[in-house]
Amino acid sequence: MPEQQQPVVFLGEGTKRTRGRDAQRINILVAKAVANAIKSTLGPKGMDKMIVDDLGDVTISNDGATILQEMSIDHPAGKMMVEVAKTQDDEVGDGTTTATVLAGTLLGKAEKMLDDEIHPSTIIKGYRLAAKKAKEYYEAISESIVLGDKKLLHDIAFTAMTGKASEGAESLSNLVVDAIIQVAEQKENKTVVDIEQVKVEKKVGASLMDSELVKGIVIDKEVVHSNMPKQVQNAKIALVDAAFEIKETETDAKIQITSPDQLQSFLDQEEGMLKKMVEKLKKAGANVLICQKGIDDLAQHFLAKEGILAVRRVKKSDMDALAKATGAKVVSRLEDLETSDLGKAQTVEEKKIAGDDMTFIYGCKNPKAVSLLVRGGSEHVVDEAERAVHDALGALASTLRAGKFVIGGGAAEVAVSTKLRNYAKTIGGREQLAIEAFAETLEVIPRTLAESAGMDPLDTMVSLRSKHSSKDGGAIGVDVYESKLANMKAKRVIEPLAVKTQALTSASEVAEMILRIDDIIAGNSKGKGPEMPPGGMGGMGGMEM
Ligand code: ADP
Ligand code: MG
Repeated sequence: MPEQQQPVVFLGEGTKRTRGRDAQRINILVAKAVANAIKSTLGPKGMDKMIVDDLGDVTISNDGATILQEMSIDHPAGKMMVEVAKTQDDEVGDGTTTATVLAGTLLGKAEKMLDDEIHPSTIIKGYRLAAKKAKEYYEAISESIVLGDKKLLHDIAFTAMTGKASEGAESLSNLVVDAIIQVAEQKENKTVVDIEQVKVEKKVGASLMDSELVKGIVIDKEVVHSNMPKQVQNAKIALVDAAFEIKETETDAKIQITSPDQLQSFLDQEEGMLKKMVEKLKKAGANVLICQKGIDDLAQHFLAKEGILAVRRVKKSDMDALAKATGAKVVSRLEDLETSDLGKAQTVEEKKIAGDDMTFIYGCKNPKAVSLLVRGGSEHVVDEAERAVHDALGALASTLRAGKFVIGGGAAEVAVSTKLRNYAKTIGGREQLAIEAFAETLEVIPRTLAESAGMDPLDTMVSLRSKHSSKDGGAIGVDVYESKLANMKAKRVIEPLAVKTQALTSASEVAEMILRIDDIIAGNSKGKGPEMPPGGMGGMGGMEM
């Protein structure tokens, strides 16, 4: 925009403002720092991060999205990087470290070009061209996969999990594949997978290998009363999100009790109300009650007398999963309960898992309802295993959605990078430099994998490039376990195409967004008033150097 067209802005005295190259420099610095913080976690040989929050709670993870989420990042450019990981996670469920590292590297290379007086819009244009082409190249080298390719699906799950649940990855991959096959639906020649249908429940105890796939729903709650049945066949399930108690408010009004008779009649009345609630259940034909709120002792007693199995204080998310699985309608007012609101399942039973009682709902009306019960020796282990399962579920779902996979271990990146370099030559001019920078950026993946395996990154890249320039070198990548180059397809390291293309999209989008900013102004957050100190925009003041 020419100078004279710029709108006149009146900024308060002392307003923190950083402009032009300084603004770009700071933003790039921060983005790079965020990417560098998680770079070393990439791949199966990647290191873990330990994040200690201000309450002393510890998270140990190898998962990019998790680490970024737990880190307290104040700077707006840093937050944009966290968003990249989040978007990646939401869209495809895996590849968060890859996306963030790519974004950081794109910006680092942009910085060098800016130093060489290349205009940001030229860099952006080159990056855009490169991103578009790179996606085409990824697609061109991808291979097809269908739901029946169980072995390939297993390999994709395994690749997505490595580094996160090493000892259990083999058995967990099998469970994840079985779970996905169970929930997948074929719609108009397309495989649709709703991973929300796979309920992941964790329980500390035993080992990762003892994790199991339950054809039904597991809830981490016990049957409330010892006189209730521990097992109900042909279950008719009422889902109620109101308390089975006489609410405080209803008895809140002052009652003057002057004689024992009065007290008795008052208690009788309360008893009568609870009894009525239980009768209502009975009348609708329920033999199982799953309640989101509490169940009064007296109500428990009545329920037990009627032979109704009841579970209380069930999480809202579990109630929703149960509704979906059993076909029940969650009822808020018990008076409204109809037989048609009840859900169905073959068996509801309480089982002891690691000393705790859990409730299992088997043979649900909707056969697609499955739960993955993740076991592990400690809380940290099950937490990380849960993240591994999450990544693998995401990876499988995105693989099946597109029906395509590519070769991992950096093989696909080198293949695409090689093609991009050739493409750059056809463009020429300054954009060519940006496209070449994009091609180099992709190489950060094999380079980082090589570093994690203790290999010399430079030598590795030189031989990788030369292997890929030969006719059938396309599957050569970094075998981090053997610390040498290998055919990664033969090593069964394969990944969803969608994870790669999404990583490219999010990385280049955020790089572009950050490159476009040439002015950082500390504004007043609404409501905080004008007395916000300069530099109050997150960690901004401190970041300047
Ligand atoms: P992200 O968060 O990006 O998914 P990961 O830590 O899961 O990061 O690492 C993914 C990278 O590790 C991918 O580039 C993938 O190809 C690579 N990878 C996974 N398993 C292997 C393996 N056995 N050998 C070499 N590379 C692997
Ligand atoms: Mg991963």
